[in-house]
Order: sequence, then structure tokens, then C-alpha cells
Amino acid sequence: MSNRTVYVGAHVSASGGVFNAPANAADIGATALSLFTRNQRQWKAKPYAPEAVDAFKAAMKAHGYNGDNSIPHSSYLVNLGSTDDEIWEKSIAGLADELSRTVQLDMRWLNFHPGTSKGEWDEERTLARIAAGIDRVHAQVQGGVLVLENTAGQGSAMGNRIEHLQRIIELVKDPDRVAICIDTCHAFAAGYDIRTAGGWDELIKLVEGTTGLDKLVALHLNDSTGGLGSRKDRHKPIGDGEIGLEGFRAIMEDSRLDGKPMILETPEVDRWPEEIALLKKLAS
Ligand code: ZN
Ligand code: MN
Ligand code: MN
Repeated sequence: MSNRTVYVGAHVSASGGVFNAPANAADIGATALSLFTRNQRQWKAKPYAPEAVDAFKAAMKAHGYNGDNSIPHSSYLVNLGSTDDEIWEKSIAGLADELSRTVQLDMRWLNFHPGTSKGEWDEERTLARIAAGIDRVHAQVQGGVLVLENTAGQGSAMGNRIEHLQRIIELVKDPDRVAICIDTCHAFAAGYDIRTAGGWDELIKLVEGTTGLDKLVALHLNDSTGGLGSRKDRHKPIGDGEIGLEGFRAIMEDSRLDGKPMILETPEVDRWPEEIALLKKLAS
């Protein structure tokens, strides 16, 4: 009946090499994928061997993945909001390396968390620090788009308000190279009540009125352990958490999201095939 384009997948393992990720995604029925472009627990990594890049591109093509349905996730070490110059510089270098890997692998978007000054600076100063970091990364890398993920607002993480993402985009020199990703668990924990179609619509209208919907390029689909406004970044399998199935039904029925990769980061990896099948069914 529908001729919608719905990309649903998961953040799959790239263990053994990035070229293993596409087959891992295909194995679970994914039509979208996320991966770490390198070991996410270290600041530095060796450049790719040319054969690894070729193998990755071949595997992507073989399994139907491309720059439209794939979005790597950056290291959790990166903090462009840090007041500590050493950490800030390491974050810029690390993110630039990951963005350049993203481009090398024929993808365009790199998802990352905006960052935090750990409460040392006020919101505006922290957002300006993040924007300045983005400018530095852009200047170091040809091509690629940095994708700001909304957060649960745990600690004093920026990005729990969509307006924070909008402000960062306003402050950067090249806003065409910045986009956003909505994580459903983070949004709910940050206080956006997306348990119903009406609640989801309100969030999308907020995006339309701030960054614009064209800036929304991807979604992370996770249910939430914490309640509404709990500010807890704790993911649950789809339907098992506080958002619940009706919320995800509204999201999957929303054709405004067509063509945007939707990525599971839910904790029970064995259940991904079942969760992906369920989400696809809700969209049909
Ligand atoms: Zn994330
Ligand atoms: Mn996420
Ligand atoms: Mn999270």
C-alpha cells in the first residue's frame, strides 16, 4: 500500500574492523546502520589501511547501505563544551579525525553529543564554546556534517532543549555542515512527553519552529528506563520502557520522518531483529 522509505537499524558492532559492520546490520534485518568509526574508548587510532576502506565500501554496497541510511556515532570521550583547554583540544582533534573517517568511508553524517562545561559556565557561554569547537573541526576536514544529538540533560549536559541545538547552529560559521538527531529516550527523559501521537507532533512542531525539519537527519529509537523529565540516560528495549509502544507507533506512522535513518541503541542486542521487525510493521 505505502511507498514510504523507512530506514530502521541499529548501532552495530564494528569489532575486528569497520568492514564487519554492514554484515552485522544485514544479519538483523536492518535497513539503516550506525557504527563507531574507530575504538571509541581511545583518543587516538591508526589511520585505516586502504584495504579496510575498500572492504567497508564493498560490504556497504553488497548489503544496500549508503550515505543516506548510515550515520556513524562519535566517541563518548568527545566534549566540545569542556572548560579544560587540553580536553577541548583533544575533543576537536578526535572529532575531526572521526569526521574525516566518515567522509573516507563515503558517509556524510557524524553523530555526537554537544557536550558540557560541567556546570562551570552558563548555558550561552557553553553553547558558544561548543560552536567554536565545531568551527575548528569544520576548518580541519573537507566535507562531512556534524550531527548534534539531543540529550537527557544528565548532569549539566547541553542539548536537553531543542533550542540549545538551534543556538549552536546559529553560532557556527558554516551552519550547512551541522544537523540534528533526536534520541527518543533522551527527549522523554528531558521532559518531552512523546508517549502519544499528540506529544510526538508537538516535538516535531518545535523542531520545525527552531532548527527546521530539514535539519533533522536521523533518529535514535530507544525506550526509556527513567520517567518523563527524569534526566536519566538509560535505554530500554522498544515497548518495555516508560515511552511505550503507542509512542513508537506514532513515530513510525509519521511520514515526515521518511528517509531519515532510525537507529536502535537498545540494550538487549539479541532482541534487535525482533525490535526492527516490530518497528517496520508499525510503519507499514
Ligand atoms: Zn549518542
Ligand atoms: Mn543516542
Ligand atoms: Mn543515551
